[in-house]
Amino acid sequence: MKTRAQDEKLEKRLTEVEQFWALKAPHRYPGWNWMKVPDNAMEEVDSYHRMATLQLNANQVEWDSPLTRLAVEGAIDGHSHLEGYPETPGLVPELKEILDGAGIERIITLPLYKFWDEQKREIEAWNNGPLAGRVICFAGFDWRLDEPGFVEKACVHLDEVKAMGVRGVKVHKDVGLSIRSNGSVAPLGDTRYKEVFAHAGALGLPVWIHYGDPHSFFFPLEGNDRSRELSCFPEWHWHPEHGEKEYWKMHEAFFRLVEDIRETNFVAVHLANYPWEKMDEFASLLGSEPNLYSDTSGRLGEIGKGKALDGIEDRRAAKARELLIRCQDKILWGTDILPTARLYKLWSWFLRSDATDTDYTWSTFYTGQGDWLVDCLNLEQPQLEKLCRAVAAGLLGLDK
Ligand SMILES: [Zn+2]
Repeated sequence: MKTRAQDEKLEKRLTEVEQFWALKAPHRYPGWNWMKVPDNAMEEVDSYHRMATLQLNANQVEWDSPLTRLAVEGAIDGHSHLEGYPETPGLVPELKEILDGAGIERIITLPLYKFWDEQKREIEAWNNGPLAGRVICFAGFDWRLDEPGFVEKACVHLDEVKAMGVRGVKVHKDVGLSIRSNGSVAPLGDTRYKEVFAHAGALGLPVWIHYGDPHSFFFPLEGNDRSRELSCFPEWHWHPEHGEKEYWKMHEAFFRLVEDIRETNFVAVHLANYPWEKMDEFASLLGSEPNLYSDTSGRLGEIGKGKALDGIEDRRAAKARELLIRCQDKILWGTDILPTARLYKLWSWFLRSDATDTDYTWSTFYTGQGDWLVDCLNLEQPQLEKLCRAVAAGLLGLDK
């Protein structure tokens, strides 16, 4: 039986966790930008790691283990956002060191906020910088659908950036959720989107598309397994404006796109934001739609979810492993913002080791998705080769 003193200690620690989450949101720190986590935020994150250890007896990654390197020749991080790196002093050399240290050959950078000429200047800077050939640039758009000649402008932009070495197109979640036309949200099936996606396919450019968001983000905060994260980033919470009905409507619209535009390969990133409970349904779509792919980016915490602070043991790793093996020709590995040495070590440890009850919070640039730990996947070499290189290389035409 617990003594009163022990209870008090536990209580105090729980309060510390609460307080920590109350002040976390790193993007509200003075000086926050998407390129660099400020030092004070990192200190807070570090304190979360200590709390996770106290509360859940978390195991930490064995940072010096050989399993913290992917050991895949020519590994590709298929999902990152390096916007603003070339013009920020020090970031490119630091990135080079991180990639070399992690054994990553190439990294895909997906634009979020830079479009048109500004985007071209950035592509040019990568092409002429020390990581030329290793950073793979994608195209993105400022979707002002109602501007006269928008589709022509977008298609010409694709022709031009393709000639500059761009290998694909990134579509952000605002498409289908908040981009408007004539006052209302333009659905994913809008003909103007279709024309641009079809043109990308005709140029041999695959489309990395983040549509929707995690299922939980369309539900009330109360009882939500992602309430921690949503209180950190209230702008990610779509409920009540968009509920579950809209969530599924977006899936339907997307799968129609996939069927309508067969010449374009689509990568529904973040495992298509599909609810974990229905992953088999998504896996069977990956199996039946020849031009449909997906990635693991931003989903380490979700697919490895194990022991949780609320006491519910929802151990997912065995299922995640089976899923990645079943869909090994259709899912590629990606991390998401921001690339750090620890991020790559954690991912490698997660994919390669059989450790359980592990602190996963280095996998995000903020403090994690919720109060739980992950179990690792213990994938074997042939699967790692596909996940971390071959699927992306095939889509990008790198082996030709
Ligand atoms: Zn991303």
